Amino acid sequence: MAKKDYYQVLGVSRDAKAEDIKKAYRKLAMQHHPDRNRDNPEAEEKFKEASEAYSVLGNSEKRQVYDRYGVEGLRGGGSDFGFSAESIFSDFGDILGDMFGFSGGVSGGRQRRGPRKGGDLGLEVELTLQESFLGVEKEVEVERERNCDACDGSGSEPGHDAETCRKCGGSGNVRVSQGFFSMATTCPGCRGNGKVVSHPCRKCHGHGRVRENKRIKVSFPAGIDDGNRLRVSGEGEGGRQGGAPGDLYISARIRPDKRFQRHGQDLLLQLPVSFSQAALGDQVTIQTFEGAEKIKIPPAAQNGQILKIKNKGFHQVNRWSRGDLLVQVRVQTPRSLSRQETELFKKLRELEAGKGQPLFDGDLVN
Ligand SMILES: [Zn+2]
Ligand SMILES: [Zn+2]
Repeated sequence: MAKKDYYQVLGVSRDAKAEDIKKAYRKLAMQHHPDRNRDNPEAEEKFKEASEAYSVLGNSEKRQVYDRYGVEGLRGGGSDFGFSAESIFSDFGDILGDMFGFSGGVSGGRQRRGPRKGGDLGLEVELTLQESFLGVEKEVEVERERNCDACDGSGSEPGHDAETCRKCGGSGNVRVSQGFFSMATTCPGCRGNGKVVSHPCRKCHGHGRVRENKRIKVSFPAGIDDGNRLRVSGEGEGGRQGGAPGDLYISARIRPDKRFQRHGQDLLLQLPVSFSQAALGDQVTIQTFEGAEKIKIPPAAQNGQILKIKNKGFHQVNRWSRGDLLVQVRVQTPRSLSRQETELFKKLRELEAGKGQPLFDGDLVN
């Protein structure tokens, strides 16, 4: 485990006076004390961290060693400044006692065994561009943990009740005493459940929980974009002790399409156009995701020019507005010419030369 800097943990400078270190510790200990933060492992961790830091910096001898050699110095070399998470509490039951108004010790953080919400789960689902454009319903499979239905989550074979844990008397916690200070920790006999399974359920082997694969129908709305996330309420891990299940989050990944691209809310399509179509204009029919669409190519259309068809782009998710369909003109140079076409192009070139249009010299050489 990587050790944090004790000064940072307490939020004091390296040359802080003993009194300020004590003050900083008191403040943190008050804030994160298990009695005030029930069922909050983060606070418990912070409380332990602060206590560990103070066990060193609050002792001038240990502090000197720490300043010179760091944590390693406190551990090694025969000079036993070692400490453990439990023993550190004993050192200053006094200042905690002060703080919380207890004289004979501080009561520890009892873990409540109430309902607990299940964890959230995440999935990634790949959609085609067309599916994202039109919206799609898909079945996804999620692997999750739920209460065992055979024993209703109790872990006991039906007909056999779990017995009250003898180690903790059913409270789920045991007290570790250190001098003035005692702290409740999760009972190792029952892992905090307060009960011990004597006849384990055959389906879940006494865990009360089973893993399952569930297929869930998910509706992806029209216009959903790459990276968008959907929340499917209640389809995550099952809750414990009657707690609500967690949620399932589904991220959409949109597979690139060969013909179409998404640009914001617009749908972009490259349209190959011949010389004559580009010069004279034309009307063509293209297939979009929604079916046939008539496109008018204006006369003198330029390569790269974009023709806009309003409101035929992507839907805004859950709104009425839409982007546009953008058709980009791609003028195609013919790859082979018939004899007749060759004749016509030559004629065309003569006409163009007559018009004085800029041509490269090489074009005139036959
Ligand atoms: Zn079971
Ligand atoms: Zn127990």
